[in-house]
Amino acid sequence: MALVKTKGIVIREQPFQEQDKIITLFTEEEGKIKAIAKGVRRNRSPLVAATQLFAYSEFVYYPGKNFANINQASLIQSFYPLRNDLMKMSLASYVLELLDAFYDYYQGNKAVLRLVNFILFYLSEDKSQSNEALVAALQLKLTEVHGIRPVFDTCALCGSTEHLTHFSIENNGVLCENCHRTEGYSYRLTPEVLSEMVYLLVTPIKAIRQRAFDPAVVRRIMDMMNHYISYQLAKNLKTYDFYRDLNL
Ligand SMILES: [Zn+2]
Repeated sequence: MALVKTKGIVIREQPFQEQDKIITLFTEEEGKIKAIAKGVRRNRSPLVAATQLFAYSEFVYYPGKNFANINQASLIQSFYPLRNDLMKMSLASYVLELLDAFYDYYQGNKAVLRLVNFILFYLSEDKSQSNEALVAALQLKLTEVHGIRPVFDTCALCGSTEHLTHFSIENNGVLCENCHRTEGYSYRLTPEVLSEMVYLLVTPIKAIRQRAFDPAVVRRIMDMMNHYISYQLAKNLKTYDFYRDLNL
C-alpha cells in the first residue's frame, strides 16, 4: 500500500504492549486517524518527540485496516510550555478533546486544523490576552462548521428579535422573555454575554487574541457552549470537568 505523508496534531495517546503507542492524529490529508507508533517507548526512538500529545508533526505512514503504521515522524512544533502550566494544559487538553469529539475517523477540516494550531501556539507562548476566549471561540466556530450553531439573532421558539434574555440548550439557541417561562431550564443571558458570543463566533482568532474580555463573561460562554456541545454530540467532555475543577 502507498505511503501517506501528511502534517497533523497528536490528539490522543495510549501505551500499547511493551514498547508501542497508539495515537490518534488530526491530519491535513486524511482527517482523524488512528495509528500505531512501534518501538516508540524504547530508549532513543526517533519517533518520541514527534508522537507525544499536542505535537504538530509531519508523519509518514502506511495505511492499515485497524491502524495506520507510523514509518517516520518529524516534529514541527511541540508546544512544550503547555506542559508546565496546569491551567493551560487543561485548556489545551480540552481543545484536543473537542476535535476528537467533533470528528469521526477519516473526517477532517484543514481550516480547523490551522485554527487549532494557532490556538495551541497562543496558549503555549502566552500570546493571548485571554486564554479562555480562544477556547470559547473554538467551541462556537466548531458548531458553525458542523451546522449545529445555536440561533442567536431571534428567539428559537417564536422568532421574536426583542428581549432575548435566555439561552436554551434543548431549543438550540436564545429564547425571549415570554418563551423562556414556558420552557424547562435555560441559562440567563445578559446582553453582554450574547454580544460577546456573536463576536467570538465571527471574529478571526488573530483579532480575538489581542482583545481583553471580562473573565466572568467568557467563563459563562464556555460553560454554556460546553453544555450545548455535549448535548448536541451526546458526549461527555471529561477534560472540561478537569478544567472547571481547577477554577472552583
Ligand atoms: Zn419567544
